[in-house]
Amino acid sequence: MNLIDTHAHLTYPELENQIDDVLSRSRSAGVAGWISIGTDRTHNQRAVQLAQRFDSMFAAVGFHPHHANDVTDDDIAFLQQAAQAEKVVAVGETGLDYHYDNVVPANQERVFRAHLEIAARYHKPVIIHTRQAFDDSMAILAEYRDKITNIVIHCYGGDISQTKFVLDRGYYISFTGTVTFKKSDALREVAKTIPLDRLMLESDCPYISPEPVRRIQPNEPALIVHTAKCLAGLFNLDLGAFADHLAANSKRFFALP
Ligand SMILES: [Zn+2]
Repeated sequence: MNLIDTHAHLTYPELENQIDDVLSRSRSAGVAGWISIGTDRTHNQRAVQLAQRFDSMFAAVGFHPHHANDVTDDDIAFLQQAAQAEKVVAVGETGLDYHYDNVVPANQERVFRAHLEIAARYHKPVIIHTRQAFDDSMAILAEYRDKITNIVIHCYGGDISQTKFVLDRGYYISFTGTVTFKKSDALREVAKTIPLDRLMLESDCPYISPEPVRRIQPNEPALIVHTAKCLAGLFNLDLGAFADHLAANSKRFFALP
């Protein structure tokens, strides 16, 4: 098995402090590729550096919408440079999150659009974070329809009609451990409607450990095997065959070597 964890915050200290062990447990579990996601200036720099240390690790650079109030023009210039760095395979995570009422929506939109401009200019895929902001996020993305080919909605939690919309637009969908939670029956029903060639898998570690290891903290890439098993079951596939499909999707989406 050769799964790829397409969204991991490996530069957060609880993981980076033990990165060699984290990666060796991951490889032993059959998760042998990682995309390390930056969320602010420091973590973007560290994600790029970390990816340059490990063959099968890549980086995505972006400012999480949570930080949108503080993102300056200088940060955007930095992002434009970082997007061109070696091993950087995507822009993000970026998007809109109306869960945080202290982050001004206009700031979130400004920062989101800046990410999309950079992704379009350098032909990079985009990793979208959207929470309680589906319609606004989709409206902005639609403006970039002709300029950005590969878009994934990360930590997916959409309902059936949102999912139909996302699939009609050609976007990919990435699941975290939330799809394994006992209360997530509706999300598992949604998952069954997604074509296998649009699915990806992520830990979003150090957060969101899946069932049945939900109490393990921090979450780490090795544990996406539990999420993979849950989804493989929904698709009536054995784990190996399912993992092969998802690894192929991830390689195609991020243009990995
Ligand atoms: Zn994340």
